[in-house]
Amino acid sequence: MNPLLEISFRVPFDQIRAEHVEPAVDELLADAAKRLEETIASDRPLHALDVMTERLDYAMSVVRHLEGVATTPELRAAYNAVQPKVSAFYAGLPLNEALWKAVQRYAASDEARALTGTMRRFLTKTVDNFKRHGAELDPAGKARLKEIDVELAAITTKFSEHVLDSTNQFELLVTDEAKLAGLPPTAVAAARASAESKSQTGWRFTLHAPSYMAVMTYLDDAAIRQQIWRAYNTRAVAEPYDNRPLTAKILTLRKEKAQLLGFRDFSDLVLDDRMAHNGTRAQQFLDNLHAKTEQRFVEENRELAAFAGRALDPWDVGYWSEKQRAALYDFDEEALRPYFPLDRVTAGMFQIFGRIFGIRVTEEQGVPVWDPAVRSFAIHDGSSGAFLGSFYADWFPRENKRGGAWMDALITGNTPEGKPHLGLICGNLTPPVDGKPALLTHREVETIFHEFGHLLHHLLSRVEVRSLAGTSVAWDFVELPSQIMENWCWERESLDLLARHFETGAAIPEDLFQKMKRAKTFRAANAQMRQLGFAYVDLALHREWKGEDVIQYTRRHLARFAPAPLPDDYAMIAGFTHLFASPVAYGAGYYSYKWAEVLDADAFTRFRKEGVFSETAGRDFREKILARGDSEDPAELYRSFMGRDPDPSALLERAGLA
Ligand SMILES: [Zn+2]
Repeated sequence: MNPLLEISFRVPFDQIRAEHVEPAVDELLADAAKRLEETIASDRPLHALDVMTERLDYAMSVVRHLEGVATTPELRAAYNAVQPKVSAFYAGLPLNEALWKAVQRYAASDEARALTGTMRRFLTKTVDNFKRHGAELDPAGKARLKEIDVELAAITTKFSEHVLDSTNQFELLVTDEAKLAGLPPTAVAAARASAESKSQTGWRFTLHAPSYMAVMTYLDDAAIRQQIWRAYNTRAVAEPYDNRPLTAKILTLRKEKAQLLGFRDFSDLVLDDRMAHNGTRAQQFLDNLHAKTEQRFVEENRELAAFAGRALDPWDVGYWSEKQRAALYDFDEEALRPYFPLDRVTAGMFQIFGRIFGIRVTEEQGVPVWDPAVRSFAIHDGSSGAFLGSFYADWFPRENKRGGAWMDALITGNTPEGKPHLGLICGNLTPPVDGKPALLTHREVETIFHEFGHLLHHLLSRVEVRSLAGTSVAWDFVELPSQIMENWCWERESLDLLARHFETGAAIPEDLFQKMKRAKTFRAANAQMRQLGFAYVDLALHREWKGEDVIQYTRRHLARFAPAPLPDDYAMIAGFTHLFASPVAYGAGYYSYKWAEVLDADAFTRFRKEGVFSETAGRDFREKILARGDSEDPAELYRSFMGRDPDPSALLERAGLA
């Protein structure tokens, strides 16, 4: 029996093999196609649509997960073999005319007209989704839309290849050791290893983040910093990797697509089903934050120039701010590690959120897992004792596991039937060494809290429609439950529950805690202006751009947000994969980073006022946000929790910009 064919709450990770993947997915695709026909013929197609692909979803999420955490060449090959046909199946659904007719027929029925609440929202969203995929266009319009999508997919792929290739094309070999002054030993060793890997003698620097960041932050030699900074900011502007014509083409096609579908511009199309709703509101949001950041931004840069004793060029800013930071705070992040042993951190986290949200987290034994290091936990409701779901935790790096930290859903439960949820949380945290427990950085602790927030959004969901449950929410809302959790890593009361010296059990000393808090707001206006600049340019390109030279257009806009004058050939946009590496990507959505921060800082003010362990605020957050998924407009959910719309003051205050 193929273990991928049936949904099993205790996923048989110990039995799943690469050879199960293709036969299972082929069978489940055939099953989904059969169900699709039944859905089209059904007089209640909406309900059928919601569960149509449940078995396929499950099998694919298990396989995708295994490919990410326990990959083998066989598993990767099997995944790559099935992935295109599965994507094609899902992508074909909103373009299926018979399905669209069935949905329309149902939408016109008495039953549909009487729908309320979550089912009403599901119907509206389904109809809107078909329309955004061109369901209402005439045949010529549909054909053109298809052409645009095909072309966008091809050009955006080319764009990201160009960025990769032009990034890899650059190298700088330093042979004079004296020129390495200022660099930390780890960066010197990495540069040496990089040279050796290319059979070169000396120290090799590249445009990849670890090498680039180390040079910009620490290297004393300003001429080398300038050379590398200029190379980084002029990537992909010359043959054979020229992205200049591609950016213009992508922007033109996106605009044409939006207008074909009846929207003013690409931002209105993309934001239609997000919390901001349209480009105008996203722009107002940025304008407001910009006005409140600008003055402090100017001051910070004046202070930095005074500290350096001269006007700075862009390649000096990172270097001098690091010097200024060290002079002002004398704060070494490594000093915090002994206070963050992993087990204590997670136990403290379960205790905090157990209390606030009224849940109980306990470790489970004997559950099949994909690696002996993986642990499994159950979540019960604190008052009723009901079993809500389980999750796996896989914390440390392995060779067969991808990098980063993430949360994923394996099974979305069903509220009326009391079916539990299943999810997981993965990280690549500092592993235990020298017989000591795993000792984490504060940033790693924040990461655990962040991913646990996404996990609770899934595990505490009580939404009757599967497609609207848990983390299936608007892009500019999804980071609220995760980012808000990070706030508990900065409050003395909560920190004392999870931060204890691994040998002495002592809490973080007060002076270290104060340094950590002060260092957090260092040059916060610059950090914010940088993000606002990218968000501004993104919206300008997708709302106002009229065919001008994209490089010059971007440079002109970003000049207002830059801490030092930008050179004439500044061309960061040609390497800006966030906006152009896929047909939608972060296009018209870059503002979401700041948007989500405003939401989390503002929502946390309830805990500030009512207490960081407030059960009233906690239960409200659980019932009005975490439990609700996308069952209502996120702006409404937010209002039901806060009693008003989001207010950016809390973010400004947290960043020391109030
Ligand atoms: Zn996140």
